[in-house]
Amino acid sequence: MQLPDLTAKRASLHPDRVALVDPDRDRSVTYGELESRAGRLARLLQDEWSVRAGDRVATLAHNRVEAVELLFACAKLGAVLVPLNWRLAPAELEFILVDADVVALAHDAAHAEVAHALTRNVPGARGGIRLLDLDDGFEARLADADPAPLVHEPRGEDALWYLLYTSGTTGKPKGVEQTAGMALVNHLNIGMAAGITSDDVFLSVLPQFHTGGWNLYVLPMLFVGGTAVIPSGFDPAQTLRLLQDRVTVFFGVPTIYQMLVEHPDFAGADLSGVRSWSAGGAAMPVPLLERLDAAGVQVRQGMGMTETGPTVFLLDEEHAISKAGSVGKPQPFVDVRLVDTEGRDVAPGESGELWFRGPGITPGYWRNDAATEAAFVGGWLRSGDVGRQDEDGFYYVVDRVKDMYISGGENVYPAEVEAVLLRLPGVRSAAVIGVPDERWGEVGRALVEVEPGVRLDGEDVRRHCRAHLAGYKVPAAVEVVHELPRGATGKVLKHVLRAERVGS
Ligand code: ATP
Repeated sequence: MQLPDLTAKRASLHPDRVALVDPDRDRSVTYGELESRAGRLARLLQDEWSVRAGDRVATLAHNRVEAVELLFACAKLGAVLVPLNWRLAPAELEFILVDADVVALAHDAAHAEVAHALTRNVPGARGGIRLLDLDDGFEARLADADPAPLVHEPRGEDALWYLLYTSGTTGKPKGVEQTAGMALVNHLNIGMAAGITSDDVFLSVLPQFHTGGWNLYVLPMLFVGGTAVIPSGFDPAQTLRLLQDRVTVFFGVPTIYQMLVEHPDFAGADLSGVRSWSAGGAAMPVPLLERLDAAGVQVRQGMGMTETGPTVFLLDEEHAISKAGSVGKPQPFVDVRLVDTEGRDVAPGESGELWFRGPGITPGYWRNDAATEAAFVGGWLRSGDVGRQDEDGFYYVVDRVKDMYISGGENVYPAEVEAVLLRLPGVRSAAVIGVPDERWGEVGRALVEVEPGVRLDGEDVRRHCRAHLAGYKVPAAVEVVHELPRGATGKVLKHVLRAERVGS
């Protein structure tokens, strides 16, 4: 199948409809403007920066509509966008720039200094990385660029469109290849499930270096001709304000929902205009789902990975609360298996590793055949997550395979213990890791993040656990902490905790 020049198509269908909104600069971009700006940007990249089909163009910037324009400029050129995680240290950014063999780097004012330093240290694919400042002089350059449309070379759905480096919770960053076909399939999976139309307005607060920043639901909105509002990042007060201003669809990770409910403006906010709420990226605590439901906000939990484009699961609206905790059932364009350590399907009701297959899954990791080979078995992607199905066919993510530990011969899934810890009043977040123990092989160590002003005793925490869990699952030690280490999307970085506590 050949993929269309999406912005050109949309611009010809309804040029005056608003595609993108930048609420920080009080600016909006119509579909007609998106097409002409992406076209000029493609010309700029080609004529001034010598970017050619197949080249990699990185971005180092807070969220902004220009990144979307760049993505479509890359589509016109056949170039590959590499959005960089601006939270990474310079050495980590250098690793990615070298790995992706980047020819040009677009940056905002906030990252100008780092960008300049990076170009001094990284040789770049073609005699030096060219810089494109998205703030200083950008509009003037765009206005001067050749407006004649570039001839968009027809490309199939397998063409590489952008690279997302995984956040690194499992080691060195790997570039997960994202094709235009994956974005389309994700739209079919999640856009249809949420029933989005051209009348919808989506508020996007996930970072653009994460799959969520594109596929939940900025690109689906552009597929249907809706509007995506893109602030520079997540701010709870601004989010609550924007949610009351024409927004109809929202997606957040659990930490975002947690920060929204804890904000003083939450109680008085009228959120009735939002008709679709969903969450994913990490387990959504059931108490949080219940608290949101009590405020009239019914959040559907989903599950996916950068590698799966991302949507695999999304709970349907009808079961958002009756099956709270579940991630729902597989979406139409993905097959799911639960597999044991021998690669056999598990018996009904048993836990196993989640394996995924379908047209929305990445073809592999950028220039890393070893990682690709390790991730796929006979066309199935091994997720590294343990899941199970209930008697009604609803799926639950039990935990990550590598987070499980064995205590006295019994498997312990930290996520189960964490869910119990979250039921304790005053506990904001919790993480359990396995640590070596002479007698039991491994025992659990719980790190409990408490709400400000709350005092908790480790023994109280263990007592609470004993009332709800088998003895071998009760953490042997409890640490009360102010803040757990988190990644860009709020996920607790267990490898950091393990390194600090166990040294591995
Ligand atoms: P890395 O691949 O480097 O470890 P990462 O795990 O942050 O980074 P992502 O692709 O962003 O990479 O996250 C996918 C993972 O997030 C899944 O494999 C799963 O472990 C977890 N996850 C996503 N949604 C859920 C959910 N609803 N419940 C539990 N876990 C989830």
